[in-house]
Amino acid sequence: MLYKKLTNILIDINSVLVPKVCFGCNAHLIRGEEYLCTTCRNNLPLTEYSFNEENPVDRIFYGRINIEKASSFLFFTEKGIVQQLIHNLKYRNQEQIGNFLGDWYGFLLRDSNELKGAIDIVIPVPLHPKRMKKRGYNQVSSFAKRLAYHLDTKYRDDLLVKTLNTKTQTKKSRMGRWQNKKSLFALTDIESLKSKNVLLVDDVITTGGTMEICAKTLSQAEGVNIYIASMAVVPKLWN
Ligand SMILES: [Zn+2]
Repeated sequence: MLYKKLTNILIDINSVLVPKVCFGCNAHLIRGEEYLCTTCRNNLPLTEYSFNEENPVDRIFYGRINIEKASSFLFFTEKGIVQQLIHNLKYRNQEQIGNFLGDWYGFLLRDSNELKGAIDIVIPVPLHPKRMKKRGYNQVSSFAKRLAYHLDTKYRDDLLVKTLNTKTQTKKSRMGRWQNKKSLFALTDIESLKSKNVLLVDDVITTGGTMEICAKTLSQAEGVNIYIASMAVVPKLWN
């Protein structure tokens, strides 16, 4: 009892010395809160889309690529909590936000029996090595790893790689945009992807362009089945 009291006092002292703030609204976090304050946590816009039913994320890819199923965890809105979270994850060195979101989404998927036994490999959308070196981590990795953990399957970030830097290539290339982008990703080991069920994971789906190119690249492996998941999706596109 005394030990617990002392521990709590120490936590309180620590939070005064090094105040932790909410990644959604910058409010100081109180004891028991982590990553998000209680208000932001309650206001987090969950899509409630399911891998078991058709949803608007599937419709983004209709007529573009052959995928099994797609879904997203959250809605991404300008200046919203989700934008703040992902901004901190990508640009403020807060890689642990990916664990937080991946655990939350992973629990939901497991709870609702979605994708149970359906996935062989979880693959994150890769970063170009130069960008990776600059940032120090792929912002999708921790999220994708937690999903793989909760789905009781493998995580592989070495099978799909980014081969060219988008900006440089766009400036230099005389080829069409689609052709140009298509060459940006490559498979390192086609054999190990043959007839596999892959869950391709990204941070935010906006137009679905990146997922489309990655899925097309993965389709070079014979018999591959592609599922798509993201931390968030921009909702205005289908309104
Ligand atoms: Zn907050």
